[in-house]
Amino acid sequence: MLTLGGRHFLIDSGISHRRLTEGLAAQGLGTDDIEAVLITHTHTDHVSGLPVWFRKTALRFIVPEMALRRVSVCMGGDALGSRLFSFVPGEDYALDGIMFHPFPVEHDAPETVGFGFDDGTARFTYLTDLGGADERHMGFCAGADLVFLEANHEPELVEVSSYPAALKRRILSPKGHLSNKQALSLLASLKQPPRKVILGHLSEVNNSPERVRERVDEFGILRIVNEVHIASQRKPTTVAI
Ligand SMILES: [Zn+2]
Ligand SMILES: [Zn+2]
Repeated sequence: MLTLGGRHFLIDSGISHRRLTEGLAAQGLGTDDIEAVLITHTHTDHVSGLPVWFRKTALRFIVPEMALRRVSVCMGGDALGSRLFSFVPGEDYALDGIMFHPFPVEHDAPETVGFGFDDGTARFTYLTDLGGADERHMGFCAGADLVFLEANHEPELVEVSSYPAALKRRILSPKGHLSNKQALSLLASLKQPPRKVILGHLSEVNNSPERVRERVDEFGILRIVNEVHIASQRKPTTVAI
């Protein structure tokens, strides 16, 4: 969950409805307190909860334009324009006083995006599920108050894993996932680093929080960034912007 300007947003819907409601309740919130759910792309780990969330809540969903058709199938015809909206990657949007900018990333799902948010006092960048970062992505990370950045794997662990060859190729490709090294060299190369970073989307097979911590030390990230957090898939990570 992202809280900016006193408003709450969710990014992606890859957990069950039960985990969603329990997670919100732990913060003293319900789904009615959420302004909208923004979707980065339609891989299962990012949208598996969406059909049930849609059915059991009054949440609004905002999805990449190319994903609209696929998502609307599980929502019924009248969702469009009432609880289902789309965005065009590369354009600016204002949502309940918060500016957000979805920007394209290279990944093997149609129209995958990262998000830059700005409420006029704080900037947050969300960047996961991408095979490589370019100048534009770095621009969104530079000087941000908080960045959520994918640190997915160690390439040599992927190579020796029991994954099928095609899946290994997919993860390691320029349309796959950021390795620890790719993520941390991106941070280390920024002239104006962000204040705080959450490293996330860690593979449970080809990575570990210990590996990520070693890489953080190796790249000297704590010399340039005030705080580094490593997000777990199992429990919530809370960071104040
Ligand atoms: Zn993913
Ligand atoms: Zn993905």
